[in-house]
Amino acid sequence: MSVKQTAGRDALGAFAPKFAELNDDVLFGQVWNRTDRLSLRDRSLVTVTALMAQGLTDSSFRYHLTTARQNGITKEEIAEILTHAAFYAGWPKAWAAFNMAKEVWADDAAPEQDAMQAHAASMVFPIGAPNDGFAQYFSGRSYLAPLSTAQVGIFNVTFEPGCRNNWHIHHAQAGGGQILICVAGRGWYQEWGKAAQLLTPGGVVNIPAGVKHWHGAAQDSWFSHLAVEVPGTDARNEWLEPVTDEQYEALA
Ligand code: MN
Repeated sequence: MSVKQTAGRDALGAFAPKFAELNDDVLFGQVWNRTDRLSLRDRSLVTVTALMAQGLTDSSFRYHLTTARQNGITKEEIAEILTHAAFYAGWPKAWAAFNMAKEVWADDAAPEQDAMQAHAASMVFPIGAPNDGFAQYFSGRSYLAPLSTAQVGIFNVTFEPGCRNNWHIHHAQAGGGQILICVAGRGWYQEWGKAAQLLTPGGVVNIPAGVKHWHGAAQDSWFSHLAVEVPGTDARNEWLEPVTDEQYEALA
């Protein structure tokens, strides 16, 4: 995700072309885009706090609150940020900021959307598109982002809370199987006849060919893992029965 800004040129391009250029190309074009050093979410946090500390409640503050929400800061987090900053920046400034933040986070039709954006902002890989091709083998909604489709297939698979795939087996005559690398959130991996294991970022699971298993999110967390297709001879997937609610709810 990269930041593009035209507000400077739109508003002041004719009147102050240098200022417009510095705004659009340097501040937004360069500084905001140094996401390898500091994430967009963290940059939003710093910017909102700095503007709030000056007592600004103009259109630029509203823009940065809206951007903060898009960059994954949830309603609970902005409430916590402004409460914390109130002690350092001043009580009346927090009041003024809260009045605007309340409006920006008002359409609570989408707390789910907020959680998804927060999850997306917590990882370096994209969420990708709805995983329609495999939806029949999943309970709940999942998303698929192909990262590598040559040499070795690597996919980022994202599960909404409670979503999991059916029991399945990665078959192969030789080689084959799958490696899961957890990149964000919390989830589960379970082999048939064994206890489920909790997966957190950095966790790696090696699944040999022929082993019946499932993987998916925890009940209360979004979850993403990279799925690495280990090359094998005559590799194919066999999809089996869903993980029942009883099996799944027994995990928590
Ligand atoms: Mn699998």
